[in-house]
Amino acid sequence: MNLSDRVTDLPESGIRKFFELAEARDDVISLGVGEPDFSAPWAARTAAIDSLERGRTSYTSNRGIRELREAIADHHRRYDQAYDPGDEILVTTGASEAVDLALRALVDPGDVVAIHEPTYISYGPGVELAGGEPLSVPTRAADDFALTRERLAAAGAERADTLVLCYPNNPTGAVMTGEQLAAVAAFCREHDIQVIADEIYAALTYGRDHESIATQPDMRERTVVVNGFSKAYAMTGLRLGYALGPAEAIDAMNRIHQYTMLSAPTTAQYAALEGLRSCDSEVAEMVSEYDRRRRFVHSRFREMGLDCFEPRGAFYAFPDCGGDDERFAEELLESQGVAVVPGSVFGEGGEGHLRVSYATSMRELKRATDRIETFLTERRQTP
Ligand code: PMP
Repeated sequence: MNLSDRVTDLPESGIRKFFELAEARDDVISLGVGEPDFSAPWAARTAAIDSLERGRTSYTSNRGIRELREAIADHHRRYDQAYDPGDEILVTTGASEAVDLALRALVDPGDVVAIHEPTYISYGPGVELAGGEPLSVPTRAADDFALTRERLAAAGAERADTLVLCYPNNPTGAVMTGEQLAAVAAFCREHDIQVIADEIYAALTYGRDHESIATQPDMRERTVVVNGFSKAYAMTGLRLGYALGPAEAIDAMNRIHQYTMLSAPTTAQYAALEGLRSCDSEVAEMVSEYDRRRRFVHSRFREMGLDCFEPRGAFYAFPDCGGDDERFAEELLESQGVAVVPGSVFGEGGEGHLRVSYATSMRELKRATDRIETFLTERRQTP
């Protein structure tokens, strides 16, 4: 076959490579995955089953069923976000489709797209597929991995056309405060930069509420917000997400979506609608369980002398492993059967760190952290 250069030029995902190593063994405790260990709330699953029983197996409108868009609009009032379900919301096949559509709708060939790093691995390849030029903006552990004006300026991001912002962040667990967002927003306004804000972890914050850059002055009109049901509602396999933004951007995204996807999965839309209508308490229970695990993992890392800033969102901790992260992760897997993801996979600034997912049971977390401690003790003894 004659494959396109666009595709052959794309790098392999570093996470995949690591999972293949882990899969080769059968005694592995995996702290590597980026998905909830829970199932979707039962009421949401029942609504999906019920929709099938009623024979709702057709396409929906391109933008998604109206009641779902209305429920999404209502839900987002809790983040002070107000979007019109008529023309400012698009339901997509996962947040992944929403990110891809936003990039393709906003980026022209040669446009520069700033991406703070370490961050979720799909943005760079998405920018390249859209013909844009990714510009890496490293963040630092010293700033708790928040994006700052200084970091943007140091990377030359004033020449960017678009910024992809992901907070709460995968892989660091960092969240940004309103004050920190205000500084980034000011930079974007000054240099006429539009924003794609992937807020899929908005519901998973601990001890503080999520704030969106779209609520900063004059930012709503230059921001597409991406969110979805995979994380907070434990619905990764149902593939449902959405985008919120000015009608002009949502229309442009829908123009691509209507040719490439037609509509998001119908069954999943009914599950999500019920999730929004009746599952707040189940979501709150999952969040409080993640919080318990987060505090446990963070304090265990501290105890064993691994420097780890306190993660405030998502379900990841990002400890400093004090050296070559790839080697550390490989040796940890080999000697103790614990899989974590090397931080360098997530871009500049991630080196020397490990992404540890705590979306796994307390029992497994206890066993895994004990093994990590043994690994560290042995390493310290053998210079
Ligand atoms: N954005 C981020 C930051 C993620 O971590 C993930 C999932 N790992 C996604 C988007 C993809 O989400 P979805 O399942 O809704 O496509």
